[in-house]
Amino acid sequence: MQAAVWHGADDLRIEDVRTPVLEKGEVLIKVKATGICGTDLMIYKGKFPRARPPLVPGHELAGEIVEVNEVPEGIKTGNMAVVNPLISCGTCVACRMGIPNVCQKLRVLGNDLDGSFAEFVKVSWKKLYIIDDDFPTDKASLVEPSAVAYHGIKRSGCEVGDFVVVQGAGPIGMLTAMVARIAGASGVALTEVRKYRLELAEKLGFIALDPAKYDVVKEIKSLTNNRGADIVVNAAPVRQAAEQMTKLIRPGGKIVVFALYKEPAVVDLLNLTFTEGHVVGSRVYSEIDFERAADLVRSGKLDVGPLITHRLGLKDALEGIEILEKGVGVMKVVLSP
Ligand SMILES: [Zn+2]
Ligand SMILES: [Zn+2]
Repeated sequence: MQAAVWHGADDLRIEDVRTPVLEKGEVLIKVKATGICGTDLMIYKGKFPRARPPLVPGHELAGEIVEVNEVPEGIKTGNMAVVNPLISCGTCVACRMGIPNVCQKLRVLGNDLDGSFAEFVKVSWKKLYIIDDDFPTDKASLVEPSAVAYHGIKRSGCEVGDFVVVQGAGPIGMLTAMVARIAGASGVALTEVRKYRLELAEKLGFIALDPAKYDVVKEIKSLTNNRGADIVVNAAPVRQAAEQMTKLIRPGGKIVVFALYKEPAVVDLLNLTFTEGHVVGSRVYSEIDFERAADLVRSGKLDVGPLITHRLGLKDALEGIEILEKGVGVMKVVLSP
C-alpha cells in the first residue's frame, strides 16, 4: 500500500509499504479521510520527542472497515467508522484512577505507532465508532479534534449563560468555541493574531479580538457588564495569553489550559488569589468524550465543515504539511488516500 512515511526532520516520503496484518480483535480500515494536525507538523519537523522514524503519522481519521479478525458480530466489513487513536496502558496510576487520558504511558496512533497517512491502518475494534455510510468522511475525520474541544469544555464546567473566552483560533480553539456555544454560552470571544482566523471566527458568529489591536481585558470587561469571563480556555501556547488569562476571569471564574507550552510561561498569580479563580489542565479526552463528540459531529449540531479549508490526496501529504506550516488562509487540511 501507499503511505507517507516520516524518516526524520523535514523528511517525509510517499512509499510502498507492507499493508498491516491483523491480529485477533483488530480491523483493517481503508482510510477515506485523515486530517493533518499540529502534532503531525511537529513530528515532520523532528520536534515531537516521542516519535521515532520510520513512522507513518496521522491520528485523525475516518474510513471503511475492509477486513476483520475475530471481532464482535456487530462490526462488519463495509461499515464506515471513525477511530479513537489513544492507547492507554491500563496499569499506571492515572489508568488505575480512572483518568486514562493522562496515562503515563499513553500511546497515540501516528505518534508512537503507524497511523493514518496511508491507504490502510489497523486498529482494535474497541477503538471504533461506527458512522452512517453516507456521512461525509472529511467531516468525520474531525471527530478527533472535536473530542479534544469537548473534553476542554467539560473540564470548564461551562453552564448555560456563561461567557467564554478562547485564546487562540486554530482548529482546536475554533472547535472549543463551537462546543461552548452548543453548551449554552451566552457569548464566545476568540483572541487571535492571524487575520484569516479572525475573519473565519467572525464569520462563524464569534467575537474575534486581535490582542495586537485591542486591550483584550478591557474589551472582555465591557462585553460582560464589567464581570469578566466565566471561563477562559487557553488554546494557544503563547506567553501573552498565559500572562493575560488570570486577568480575564470573573471572581470565581475558571481557566482551562490545553495549550502545549514548550517552556514555562509567566502567569499573574496575584489575580488568581484575588479572584479565587480555578485553573485546570485538559489533555485529550476520555472514551465517552470521543463518543459524545462523534454524536455532535454526526448529528450536524457541531458543524465542522467550515473549518476544512484544504482537501488533498495522500500523495500531496507534504504539500499539506507545508500549507499548515506557512499558516496562510488555512484551518484544517484533510488528506484523502
Ligand atoms: Zn491532533
Ligand atoms: Zn496508563
